[in-house]
Amino acid sequence: MSAPPGSAPRTGPGEVLRVAVPSPLRRLFDYLPATDGALPPPGVRVRVPFGRSRQVGLVVAHAREASVPASRLRRVLSVIDREPLLDASLLELLGFASDYFHHPPGEVLATMLPPWLREGRSLDSAQTTKWVLTDAGRDAVHAGRPSLGPLQRRLLAALDDRDAGAALGEPDAREQAALRRLHARGLVAREAVTPETAAAQRVASATVLNPAQSQAVEQVQAALGGFAAFLLDGVTGSGKTEVYLALIDLVTSRGQQALVLVPEIGLTPQTVRRFRDRLGTPVAALHSGMAAGERLAVWRAARRGDAPVVVGTRSAVFTPLARPGLLVVDEEHDLSFKQQEGLRYSARDLAVLRARRAGVPVVLGSASPSLESLHNVRAGRYRELTLPERAGAGRAPEVTVVDLRGRRLDGGLSEPAWDALDACLGAGEQAILFVNRRGYAPVAMCHECGAPVDCPRCDAHMVWHRQERRLRCHHCDRAQPLPEACECGAVESLRPVGVGTQRVVEALAERFPRARVARVDRDSVRRRGAMEAMLDAVHDGALDVLVGTQMLAKGHDFPRVTLVAILDADGGLFSADFRASERMAQLLTQVGGRAGRGERRGRVLVQTHHPQHPLLRTLIMGGYRRFAQAALAEREAGQLPPYAHLALLRAEAAEREPVHAFLAAARDAARPAPGVSVLGPVAPPMERRAGRVRGQLLLEAAERAALHRCLAQWLPRVEALPGARRVRWSLDVDPQETL
Ligand code: ADP
Ligand code: ZN
Repeated sequence: MSAPPGSAPRTGPGEVLRVAVPSPLRRLFDYLPATDGALPPPGVRVRVPFGRSRQVGLVVAHAREASVPASRLRRVLSVIDREPLLDASLLELLGFASDYFHHPPGEVLATMLPPWLREGRSLDSAQTTKWVLTDAGRDAVHAGRPSLGPLQRRLLAALDDRDAGAALGEPDAREQAALRRLHARGLVAREAVTPETAAAQRVASATVLNPAQSQAVEQVQAALGGFAAFLLDGVTGSGKTEVYLALIDLVTSRGQQALVLVPEIGLTPQTVRRFRDRLGTPVAALHSGMAAGERLAVWRAARRGDAPVVVGTRSAVFTPLARPGLLVVDEEHDLSFKQQEGLRYSARDLAVLRARRAGVPVVLGSASPSLESLHNVRAGRYRELTLPERAGAGRAPEVTVVDLRGRRLDGGLSEPAWDALDACLGAGEQAILFVNRRGYAPVAMCHECGAPVDCPRCDAHMVWHRQERRLRCHHCDRAQPLPEACECGAVESLRPVGVGTQRVVEALAERFPRARVARVDRDSVRRRGAMEAMLDAVHDGALDVLVGTQMLAKGHDFPRVTLVAILDADGGLFSADFRASERMAQLLTQVGGRAGRGERRGRVLVQTHHPQHPLLRTLIMGGYRRFAQAALAEREAGQLPPYAHLALLRAEAAEREPVHAFLAAARDAARPAPGVSVLGPVAPPMERRAGRVRGQLLLEAAERAALHRCLAQWLPRVEALPGARRVRWSLDVDPQETL
């Protein structure tokens, strides 16, 4: 029932709509139904007046009574969807995420929806086909065929420049016409993007699982149809992916869907390809590098149950599934599962929650599990599945520590490292050199006065990028030419200090001029498809040495790599962040895990100035498992996560004063906070970043519930603080980086 047009809105039983509207306010907003009287069910999008603007919101619930006086209630302008976009379980997830992360429900919604739906487009606007290059088109790009016009050439180059999976954004009318002309010439073609029409063919035959793998599969299989959380703890190369594949096969053959979360698809295009090659069903990829229309197509197909397998990055955890059967989080320890801005959610933790609500198993896999997950195993919340040995031909690599004290380094490598590389290349094998910094040198220092060149906007040194002949700040991206003179007056006195990827490549060219070397860091893989081309070259044996950053640690399977050298293991040993040692151990385990995955045994060289450091010793002598036990004991003694629960209030502004005033007022507003310690305000080690001064307040509690009770009461007071408008602030629940 609705009020007749023109009359003042009246509320009646069940007539008020609770709507999530994108806004920084931590609450839902009440509206009356549109004048046509239709009462949209929860999960449907509506257009609503909001302040002086219009917004796209989502009906979350119906209510009998409005939370504001009837005279202030406004009407929904129009209803967008014919049926709910989000089902009851995703609406619950929205509510949970909003409560748990203490984040505005409208902004949680915005994070959950693909961009086109957020903007109010219809579900049917999903792109069903995309333009792709034909072989002739690819030849035309590389041969630079002269008969093409500039627009045509630009379009071809744009198509060539994309991942195999991505599409052109949205061509305008002129581009459409040009694409049609290219189509007539056979240079481009239309290809379906929706997974239900994508051809699926089983190319590779399934591997015969070893006993450990079979046991893991059987345990999860026995749990299908109900909730259970598993930690698949398998050393690198132990065949975790084969376990996922076998389970997905089981689930899809029951007519159900599997959702697989992976760290970064751009860095591991192999994963999607391997899934496609091995599964007899279509595999849809979902990541932020895709065109919006295509993302929507996959989202829609998954929601209808037409996409049996979805492999996606962090935000794919919100993909609707008509018939969920299994959730997988690969490399569950990876930091990329935690969003570091806006809604600071952990996709891993939400995946476990989703699985519980959906009543399906979730498998978290890693060779270096997070301490949180290991703790959950101990607490009986997760069941552990172990793959203790490498599968197939691979054997665990031999680890050697190189004590750098007193040694001369050339290009970041000690003589033992050069010797090992020499032997590796001599045997026709491949090597990986891991450097934790891109660029040429992390510091440019004046040889006369010893002053480093610092970023004017950050508390950080500028990094020397030799090829560009520039200095770059890796925190704010500021770039500047190399100064000719230092502030002390010395001319051409700058010297590189320390080693970045570019400098290692340079040293390699001098020592091994014939070695084929590729650099793998954020600079070198910026171009789309560059990573994939590099990976192909490694597999084809067209490269001898890879010099790269942690990008190389991500799940790649390089059968011919027999040597991995970690040029500097010291970074994580003395950091102020209590998680630094865990991250370092994970990185060393993952990078080291790239060695000897094929038939020949691998070697890992770890260069350090601290060979006696207990963490390094435990890790190297006892492996990640031993390390994790020791690290958990330390955390327990120090009452740190996972034995305590944290939330971090961050603030920043152009000046220091408003930041500290706000944080101090926020601290006072938190008290009394039973069961919660409020620490700060403190400045992080890099207090100034991108021209902004930063500060933070840490809340710590032994009981999660106490922390959340405190946050729920405290945040409205923080919001109301006069100083809150003078800073940019945000709350991070379960922060992964506390600096
Ligand atoms: P992970 O995901 O644990 O790093 P993968 O699933 O990538 O391990 O497996 C590592 C390598 O071992 C791959 O080349 C894979 O084909 C091979 N492999 C895995 N399981 C088996 C098996 N049961 N028999 C033979 N080879 C296997
Ligand atoms: Zn900077």
